[in-house]
Amino acid sequence: MLKNKEFRQFAHEVADWMANYLQNVDQYPVKSQVQPGDILQQIPEYPPENEEPMNNIFNDFKRIIIPGISHWQSPNWFAYFQANSSYPSILAEMITATLGAQCMVWETSPAAAELEERMMQWLKNLTGLPENFEGVIQDTASTSTLCAILTAREKASEFGINKSGFPATRYRVYCSLEAHSSIDKAVRISGLGHDNLVRIKTHINDLSMDPDALEKSLMKDIENGLKPLCVIATIGTTGTMAIDPLEPIGEICQKYKIWLHVDAAYAGTAMFLPEYRWMIKGIELADSYVFNPHKWMFTNFDCSAYYVKDKESLIRTFSIMPEYLKTAFDEKVNNYRDWGIQLGRRFRALKLWFVLRSYGAEGIRKVIGNHVFWAQNLAAEIGKQPDFEIMAPCLLNMICFRYHPEGVDDAESLNRLNEKLIRNLNISGRMYVSHTKIKSNFVIRFAAGQTFLQERHLLDAWLFIKEEARKLE
Ligand code: PLP
Repeated sequence: MLKNKEFRQFAHEVADWMANYLQNVDQYPVKSQVQPGDILQQIPEYPPENEEPMNNIFNDFKRIIIPGISHWQSPNWFAYFQANSSYPSILAEMITATLGAQCMVWETSPAAAELEERMMQWLKNLTGLPENFEGVIQDTASTSTLCAILTAREKASEFGINKSGFPATRYRVYCSLEAHSSIDKAVRISGLGHDNLVRIKTHINDLSMDPDALEKSLMKDIENGLKPLCVIATIGTTGTMAIDPLEPIGEICQKYKIWLHVDAAYAGTAMFLPEYRWMIKGIELADSYVFNPHKWMFTNFDCSAYYVKDKESLIRTFSIMPEYLKTAFDEKVNNYRDWGIQLGRRFRALKLWFVLRSYGAEGIRKVIGNHVFWAQNLAAEIGKQPDFEIMAPCLLNMICFRYHPEGVDDAESLNRLNEKLIRNLNISGRMYVSHTKIKSNFVIRFAAGQTFLQERHLLDAWLFIKEEARKLE
């Protein structure tokens, strides 16, 4: 078994490997090139009976595992939304792993609880959220949204569903056609039923939720004896970064007394920049809000900032007090086990503290401001090309576009052409992009937000995209 002396030696070796890896991360094929089963067949069917030297384990990690990794920390990662880390965040994660603290209640890790409280205040102020919001760190936006729906459900049923199960009432949840699939999961898990998720149509030009369509849907449901429970508005949809208009949606929610949850999983980081706060105009009308520092804000996965206006309802939904969890300080402190689903909690506030202090607010504004600036310049450049087409407004740092050469105008051929283009780009290992569909059109999604991104990476990627596209038959 590893002793302290060898641990120290390998910790140094691992730290060297980490620094080298991040220094050269742009040299790896961004998207892993392995085929299904390639990794599995290199891992023995049965675990070792006897101890193995750390050297062998570490060498196997480099030989077997690394080829099967897609390199999310490469500056040439433009796919999905980023899952950024950063040097200060990694250092904090190393310390977190070393402490191995379980942060279920204040007493089991007082510093973790109090640092979490303060970090949630810092983030609230830095991103312009209302003063009366209170925050807690969840693992993911999926969990935060589930918490919002469960709390809305309990509040609407006077905490009756937790107690006695579902009454005959059919509760309804509303979100736009473009909203994230985590909402579909949340309505299933919360027992509301997928048939009670209503997808509201979006405006044709910017794919944001149409508030008039929302109100019509609500009125129809009420007429039919159904009970509107919760509306989920998205700030920065996954497909195209569309921004739902919070103010009119919020006013409708107030009028019909419906919980408003706001999913700003990715775009929430942009609220560091005051010039983008128009995107959350009306946020004071929301009951809950989530954004993920683990996406664009240089903080290792997982770290999701969840805010609520009415913390008592959140706690009443989740609090259970068995004898063995009672402590002398329960009345005086935040026991975050009562603010969400899990009992056991990682010490996630530490990496936020490291990131926010190491970058400083201005440092974060500068890096994400650059991402937006470079992406918008590139979008303008793409828009000027006769054989490329911008497919959705580029409001932040994501560009939705497709290759559209002269003479190819039927939708099927254009879809095939762009699918092939993405395949070739990703097989090259030089960059990784992903796709979406807008009105059945296959569209390339290019998100420019990786921690180590520089303008030259964008420009190189664009040259390569043009070259590969114009090679296609
Ligand atoms: N909401 C939006 C808008 C997203 O884009 C995503 C993921 O990309 C999620 C929710 C889910 O995030 P998580 O992986 O933190 O659950």
